[in-house]
Amino acid sequence: MTRLVATGTTDVGRVRSSNEDAYFVGDSVFAVADGMGGHAAGEVAASTALEPIRALDGRVFGDATEALAALRDAVITANATVSRMAEDDPTYHGMGTTLTATLLEGARLHIAHVGDSRAYLLRDGKFSQITDDHTLVQHLIDEGQITREEAANHPQRSIITRAIGVSPEVDVDSMSLELQPDDILLLCSDGLTGVVDDRTIATTLAQRDDPDTTIETLVSLANDAGGPDNVTAVLLRYEDAAAARGTNGPTTVAIRTRHDDPGADWARKMGTFGAFG
Ligand code: MG
Repeated sequence: MTRLVATGTTDVGRVRSSNEDAYFVGDSVFAVADGMGGHAAGEVAASTALEPIRALDGRVFGDATEALAALRDAVITANATVSRMAEDDPTYHGMGTTLTATLLEGARLHIAHVGDSRAYLLRDGKFSQITDDHTLVQHLIDEGQITREEAANHPQRSIITRAIGVSPEVDVDSMSLELQPDDILLLCSDGLTGVVDDRTIATTLAQRDDPDTTIETLVSLANDAGGPDNVTAVLLRYEDAAAARGTNGPTTVAIRTRHDDPGADWARKMGTFGAFG
């Protein structure tokens, strides 16, 4: 028997006065959203975008196709809702959010993604980013105009090219992953990846500490590096239940949530939305 152990946390960081990141850790659905927009609009965008994802939690699907379609539909619904609110209410004008959402269906993890939050997989000692960043710098890397090293310190590295809520239509990336025992997945916002390199994240995950300890370590690493942005991490570990402490039986989930002061400043990203969409 295998089980998925999941936990998540978010932290305001060391610079921002509020936290516009949000996450959801359910029984079968796990997601990270990094909101943007002034006057707490980013917080509204992130939490609103998570609602249709949250609604999928615990739902049973006939097959993989149906499950992935439901996840994609939820992201499209999230986009429609956030963009309508942004259109209808001047307070929310220009708000948006990233959304990286995953759905467990049997031994498969379905992933739908928009923006520059990330999903990583650590499998058999190999650490890989499994989502693409929808950012200006990624676009420049893909075009061969800058290197990955140059991107890390590029002055425009925070500019994103795709987000939930900035347009009535959204292009959603999606994929499905057959989980293997000992897989570790990390969903995180750019508050982590902007200041902590992949090698350090991989090393931290590979320690296989208690899951809550692991995510607290990741947050500490970001804060020790200056904590310039809100930091969010959701950790998923697919484990052999016999090898794990505590529970047995199919797919049980450890849940931990924490709420921090919400709200932040992504407004500078707003003017450039859609420039490369
Ligand atoms: Mg961020």
